[in-house]
Formats: sequence, structure tokens, C-alpha cells
Amino acid sequence: MLPPLARTAFRIHERLLGRRSFAILDELRESAAWPRQRRAELQLERLQAIVAAAYAHTPYWREVIDGCGIRPQGIRSLDDLRRFPLLEKGTLRARRDEMTWRAAGRRLALVRTSGSTNEALQFYTNSDREAQINAARMRGHEWIGIRRGEREMYFWGSPVELSKQDRIKRIRDWLVNDGLTNGFALTPELVARYFDYWMRWRPRCIFGYPNSLRLMTLIGRAQGIDLAALKGRGLKVISTTSEMLTQHDRQLIAGAFGVPVFDSYGLREAGLIGHECALATMHTMDEQLLLETIDPRTLEPVDGEGELVVTNLVGMVMPIIRYRTGDIVTLSDVPCPCGRTLGSLTISGGRVAEFIVTSGGTWIPAYAFIYICRSVPGVVKFQVRQDTPGEIRVLLATDANFPPDGTEQVVQKARQRLQSDDHVTVELVDDIEPAPSGKYRPVVSKVAEDRLKSP
Ligand SMILES: [Zn+2]
Repeated sequence: MLPPLARTAFRIHERLLGRRSFAILDELRESAAWPRQRRAELQLERLQAIVAAAYAHTPYWREVIDGCGIRPQGIRSLDDLRRFPLLEKGTLRARRDEMTWRAAGRRLALVRTSGSTNEALQFYTNSDREAQINAARMRGHEWIGIRRGEREMYFWGSPVELSKQDRIKRIRDWLVNDGLTNGFALTPELVARYFDYWMRWRPRCIFGYPNSLRLMTLIGRAQGIDLAALKGRGLKVISTTSEMLTQHDRQLIAGAFGVPVFDSYGLREAGLIGHECALATMHTMDEQLLLETIDPRTLEPVDGEGELVVTNLVGMVMPIIRYRTGDIVTLSDVPCPCGRTLGSLTISGGRVAEFIVTSGGTWIPAYAFIYICRSVPGVVKFQVRQDTPGEIRVLLATDANFPPDGTEQVVQKARQRLQSDDHVTVELVDDIEPAPSGKYRPVVSKVAEDRLKSP
């Protein structure tokens, strides 16, 4: 499909779903260059609107706003946001329905997080909220030279998404120039097959998890596959999301494919938060969000590095006000030479290997386990550990919704995915502590770490 036609098809798709994505994109293109003061005025206007709506339409927020003595019309400056208490993930989980304005717009849907945390979370969205996120993502992609409608390969692959690969989805993907390759299980044979497929499909952009792309690079290189040949077939850029992209991985992937690698950062429950420009500054979506950092121990606001707290200014359906993300970042308003006046952030910490290596030699990214554990109700947190080859331990922290055969379900699904004779055990635990960086690690595999050190 020619890009302009695919772009038109996507426009129609969005309109049919009641999403103003392209109108919002036009606004966002302009406001990225606004003087900061003008954007601050927009933020205040939007904050006032969301607080008023939250108060008028949701019992949870009415209780909070009354409880801390804020009058819903009393928001006079952006600093007034600090008078709100922090919103914890646990509260969002426990009181989700009471913080939802079900009649806020069209196509209300309850969805699950698929972000970089392994804490399961469900939240509400609607067509307005999805349109905002889609527009923000389209703008981010334009910064790195990809317009909607150009051929984009999703190196993705939740089992859920793949099972939905029915005819309608295939036709839709074909119409809008989206492709899909499963990045969840990688073997030398699959890497060779994907490479051939990409050479034929000719993506302009490959969009995927850093860990899958890194593995594609390592396995491809070991087999003598020249990934840079994709450049000759039109590849311009690689775009990553969802996991920490370390400088090392960025260089590794960019070196192998011969195109730049840019990152983005979002949390499904909070919105798209940051997207890099062509100068690799991760700009923040300031029209849609108010961002703060706090000390995760004292919960006091900090200037430098701290835990990111997000207020979403455009998601009326489920107002998210001062939400603790658990991610450690540094916010900055140092101007970027690209000319955009948006702020920026850098994400701290980095992750080591997030794979399991099966006894058959297949590398399984952490994401596969996120989807397994999320498909069983009542799993609040999980961690998969592999200390010795052939042994895989799944730790689960569960709540009352966990079914009596939940353990068996997880073992079954893990076996199905692993397709190997590894020994899988499930242990129920009270809690799973985050790593010293503050981040949860869904997979901790000594086996993978050792192999990556000496491949
Ligand atoms: Zn920039």
C-alpha cells in the first residue's frame, strides 16, 4: 500500500472508532514549538477541567478532594497540584471503578497494562483517551522521520495479539501498512526467517522491545546475517519502547542495522510520557501531562533524579492525578537544539539480561512471562528466576481472585510457551521486592546473564 493511501486508511480507521487522532496531531505539531508560558497556560486550563470533572463525576476523587480541603474550583496555579495526595498503584487497582467517569465519552473499555512493570493493572480507557495517545505517538514518530502510513514492522508478539490475527486484523494491518513479527521466542532458525521476511516486506521502521532487537542482533551476527542489508530495502530507523534502552544496546543495535535507534517511554495507565527527537532528547508530552519527581522514601518533591509522578491532563474517563509510576527519572527543561520547547527526561538505571534460556537453546524474553502471568486472574506481582539451566521458578504474589488451580494454569501456560523439557515450579510468596534501582525485574536469569557474557 502506498504511504498516502495507508495514511488515509488509518484516518478512516480512527474516525470509525470515534477518535480525533489526526486533529489532535495537528494541534500537537504546533504546540511543540510554543513558548513555554503558553503551554503552561494550557496545562492549567486542562488541570482545572480534569479536577472539576473528577469531582463532579467520580466518588473516589470527590472523597479525595473534599478530604484534603481543595475546592474543585480552587485550582489557581500548577503548584496547587501539590495539594493532592499521591495516587498509589494499589489504590488504582482497588478503587478503579470509583475513579471512573463511565459516560465521559465513547467506547469505554477496560484494558490491562502491558508496560514495563510486572504488576498487573487494569484501567479504563475510551476513544478520546486512545486518540490522545495515538496522536502523541504519531508526533513522536514524525520527529524521527516516520509518518503514519509508512511501512512499520511491529517486532512484538503478545500471544493475545497474535491470536487476534484474524482476517479483519490482517486486512486492517495491510491497509495501514503495519506488519507483525513475533519477537517473543527467538532461535537461530527464526532469526533467519524473520530477516528474510523483513527483506521482502521492506519496513521503513522496525518498532519493538530493546531486548528482542538486541537478541536479533546477537543471534543474527553469530549466523553471519547482514542486518544492515535492510537499509538497502528502505529501513530508515528503529524505534524502541517499553523496556529500558541502555546506551550499550542502542549502539549494538544501531551498529548492526546501520540505522539510528530511538526510544520512547509510556505507561498504558498514564499515557505516552516521552519520545525521543532525532537528537535523542526524550521530549515529554507536556500538553497531555504534568510531571513531577519525588524522593521515593520521603515522598517529598525533588529537583534532580527521583520517582516520576504523573498527572494526565486529557484522560477524563479515568482521571489520573499524581500517580506514582515507580520509575526513576530526571526531568529537565534545558532547551533542545531541535527547537522544540517541550521538556525532556532521562530514565535512570538499566537492566541486565531479561531472558530465560530453555534447555533447547531458545531465548524467551521477559515479556512472554508477563503475558502468561497476566492471563491468570489474581496475580498481583510475579518474578521468574533461573539460577541453573533446566530449572525455572515462577514466584507469584496473589490476591483473593487467584483461582484454586491458578498454580497449575501458570505451569501449563509456561510449558506451552517454552516448548521444552525445562522443570517449571510455581511458588506463592507474600511480596516481591524491587531491585535496588527501584524497578521490578520480571525475569532474573543467571543462566542468560552468564551466556551473554561469554556467548
Ligand atoms: Zn529535541
